[in-house]
Amino acid sequence: MTVRTDDLGRFMEGVTRRNPGEPEFHQAVKEVAANVIPYIQDKPVYQEMQILERMAEPDRVIIFRVCWEDDGGNIRVNRGYRVQFNNSIGPYKGGIRFHPSVTLSILKFLGFEQTFKNSLTGLPMGGGKGGADFNPKGKSDNEVMRFCQSFMTELSRHIGENTDVPAGDIGVGAREIGYMFGQYKRLNNEFVGVLTGKGLEFGGSLIRTEATGYGAVYFAENMLGRIGDSVKGKSCVVSGSGNVATYAAEKILQLGGKVLTLSDSGGFVHDPDGINEEKLEFIKNLKQVQRGRISEYTDTYKNATFHEGRPWGVTCDVALPCATQNEITEVEAKLLLANGVKVVSEGANMPTEQGGIDAFIDGKILFAPSKAANAGGVAVSGLEMSQNSARISWKEDELQVLLQDIMKSIHDNCVEYGSEGEHVNYLKGANVAGFIKVADAMVAYGVV
Ligand code: NDP
Repeated sequence: MTVRTDDLGRFMEGVTRRNPGEPEFHQAVKEVAANVIPYIQDKPVYQEMQILERMAEPDRVIIFRVCWEDDGGNIRVNRGYRVQFNNSIGPYKGGIRFHPSVTLSILKFLGFEQTFKNSLTGLPMGGGKGGADFNPKGKSDNEVMRFCQSFMTELSRHIGENTDVPAGDIGVGAREIGYMFGQYKRLNNEFVGVLTGKGLEFGGSLIRTEATGYGAVYFAENMLGRIGDSVKGKSCVVSGSGNVATYAAEKILQLGGKVLTLSDSGGFVHDPDGINEEKLEFIKNLKQVQRGRISEYTDTYKNATFHEGRPWGVTCDVALPCATQNEITEVEAKLLLANGVKVVSEGANMPTEQGGIDAFIDGKILFAPSKAANAGGVAVSGLEMSQNSARISWKEDELQVLLQDIMKSIHDNCVEYGSEGEHVNYLKGANVAGFIKVADAMVAYGVV
């Protein structure tokens, strides 16, 4: 058989042709392919078996109508999705996003990324992602409940503890997971770990809520530790004020860093005195309980200022994008570099546009891509699955150690595959290390 030596342009031409109108998906595939194609040049088995081509094609995409009734008695319709991307190394695993911006392109990019991320954790989990273009903002609890029940009524046909185990993501927190788990249990008459991120009373794991944000900071600490430095004393700019952002901020404070900003879709607050533990509790309560806006922070903390837009113009040592995809443009990345940023650890999924990534890589700063830096959340989800199967609950200190060990091992894996002399290209390391495990499993299965 002739070994086809593909190049990025040709490969992406095929991906773009087969997936028209899906820019986020093209972006995610290209970012991985740019590292994987050179790596497989001298490994004919991956080429003969068309592994990368097959990995860029989801196993299955499910799209469904979700009807529900609002508090005014009006019938509403949304679109639900589950992208089951790749189950070569374990059941599909990945979050559910409820946000008006949700499209098939976004969920395919997230499912594709998730496959590599889950592989990096070292746990037996495949990649998937799901969601709906439903906006929970401004809806009553009862409306959210009716939506979640309707969404799960269809989704429940496609998931299962050994098949596909969803979790939370943007717009899907403890409340939504509770409603969805309750509906699954009612429909199937079984109590199994079919979702993760559950309440502690019904099978949830300690530190799952904290794990993504904590993990992104542990990753930064590992990168700095490798060069004899640490987060202690560093000024940090964080975007977002949801699950990932607030726990990233919490861990920065625990490690002795200073948090200068948090944001939401309305803008960011800059507190030159630093957002300390008390102020962080205020924000968690404001955003998660009161469901308010970050701008309200300045009503209480008068030294802080509110600005529309994103926080990347604030001078810092460490930047943690923890809100959403494509929230750091090339211009913003260059601004961060010009202001002396040393570390970027991506808490959100694909928060940096390709031009920005190139700037960080060229600038040779410590840049941790999301699939490595934010893998702590799904790692603890994997541990939640294990606890559910064994019907046990691990203690918090045991889980903290496991999370730190997993983040260290992902870091070390990235160093192994991403070293370029003294410098480490963590993006290359993560893409190649994530690829190998899934690729080897696919080779073992033959053509399926
Ligand atoms: P949340 O819904 O808890 O918080 C999202 C935050 O980002 C909110 O502050 C929200 O502001 C802000 N945000 C959302 N969309 C935009 C936008 N278009 N522009 C500006 N700000 C925006 O989500 P999570 O914290 O769970 O998720 C954040 C990111 O982390 C996502 O990329 C997600 O995929 C990723 N992630 C999450 C994991 C988890 O365990 N939760 C695991 C791995 C990755 P507002 O309140 O105004 O909407």
